[in-house]
Amino acid sequence: MEIDKLGEILRIYTDKLKYNSGFAAYKRNYVSNDYVNTRGKEATFYATVFDEHHRRSYTSMINIDTEKRTISNLSCDCQNVFNNKGPQVCPHIVAAVLNGIKKLRDKSKEEFSEGDVILNPSVIFDISQSRGGNLGADLYIEGIDKNEYEKIYESYKEKYKYHLMPDGSYIDLKDNDLEKIFQIIDVLGIYGDFQKIKIPDNKAIFLEKILENENYTLINGKKYVDNVIKKYNKLNKDIKVPDNLKANLRDYQIEGFKFFNTLSNYNFGGVLADEMGLGKTVQTLAFLLSKKDKKSIVITPTSLIFNWKSEFEKFTPDIKLGIAYGSKTQREIILENHKDYDVILTSYGTYKNDIEKYKNINFDFCIIDEAQNIKNPDSIITKAIKSVNANVKFALTGTPVENNLIELWSIFDFIMPGYLYNKKKFETIFANNEKNYVQLKSLIKPFMLRRTKKEVINELPDKIEHKFYVELEKELTRVL
Ligand SMILES: [Zn+2]
Repeated sequence: MEIDKLGEILRIYTDKLKYNSGFAAYKRNYVSNDYVNTRGKEATFYATVFDEHHRRSYTSMINIDTEKRTISNLSCDCQNVFNNKGPQVCPHIVAAVLNGIKKLRDKSKEEFSEGDVILNPSVIFDISQSRGGNLGADLYIEGIDKNEYEKIYESYKEKYKYHLMPDGSYIDLKDNDLEKIFQIIDVLGIYGDFQKIKIPDNKAIFLEKILENENYTLINGKKYVDNVIKKYNKLNKDIKVPDNLKANLRDYQIEGFKFFNTLSNYNFGGVLADEMGLGKTVQTLAFLLSKKDKKSIVITPTSLIFNWKSEFEKFTPDIKLGIAYGSKTQREIILENHKDYDVILTSYGTYKNDIEKYKNINFDFCIIDEAQNIKNPDSIITKAIKSVNANVKFALTGTPVENNLIELWSIFDFIMPGYLYNKKKFETIFANNEKNYVQLKSLIKPFMLRRTKKEVINELPDKIEHKFYVELEKELTRVL
């Protein structure tokens, strides 16, 4: 049975004007009591279809001949299966057939008939040199025409166990190398064009993790991944805490300072997610001081503006700080003379109100404190903050995830838009899919630094109470 042809033939008999209501609306039709029978070149589909729109059930039946490319014996209780030109399928029949096609593809190995060929081709993923900020890559599936790759990938995305090839053979898609490579391709965010795969350099750190964690003999070109990493490591070797910082950083804080510097050398953003009380501010100030020749903006909740002001004065008196907060005139004066300052300090609300004035200012660095303020991707504040013109963006937060993973997505959408894909794709790959948490973890890891008090207890001064309130959301503990 040539399953691919069934859908094609069905489309011939779908009213062109109602085309969408046929193939798109079938999703609001729920199939039960379904039955598929294939005999030679003929397939019969029968189903009870509940139409959510009409709030009632219909019995649908259709017979498709794949050789003659015709349909016969079609019937549906909705009575819309004929027009003046002849037979025509309704959304209920479309639903019955699409459901049946899926069933045919999903049939277990035991049900394959004699003579069905199941292929388990070997796979190679060849990574090549980085050019213009992207690593190149090539996928080879042994013995398979490149033009078929995208369709095979689509079958994988549809969670089919097998992909039906034009010659009638099946490609195994479960628990094999092909599945593994498709999973990686999924997480790398490359899709569509398998002829010329490009992997952004910032995914190199993720690839390196995969290559070191598992023995992936299917992936060639580790040296090109390493080259990207090496290039940046060179930049990172000589990072030193500036002498004029008026504070002694603890070891873990120096690590945080280096985290900022290393990522900014790559032009990447990041999230410093240390637990409350570990000095996210002083680590940030050390970084800003090391970039005193650049222009930065720090955005904080209103309640913390004056904390930041006094910490700037205490730890980094050499930084010229412009506080764009308070009366309108005051803010205007600061923003008009923004060139005189190393760092502009403002609040979320004030930034939003002054957004027009910020349109013409380009910052090298943007730091937002209490980043959970942008956890809701649809809020006005979030949209305003995401519009800030800055080369590199960092987020500070003690609670990167409070309720759900979309909050984490929203923060990443600020620091590196697109890195965790668009919201919809992120939801599909991760939010409802614990199987992919391992991958999400590897993706996030290079860009998020989180230490708990428990971890750095030996470095903390005695006066901090040795009580640990690690009350992360269940989801957070599983992901981070
Ligand atoms: Zn119908």
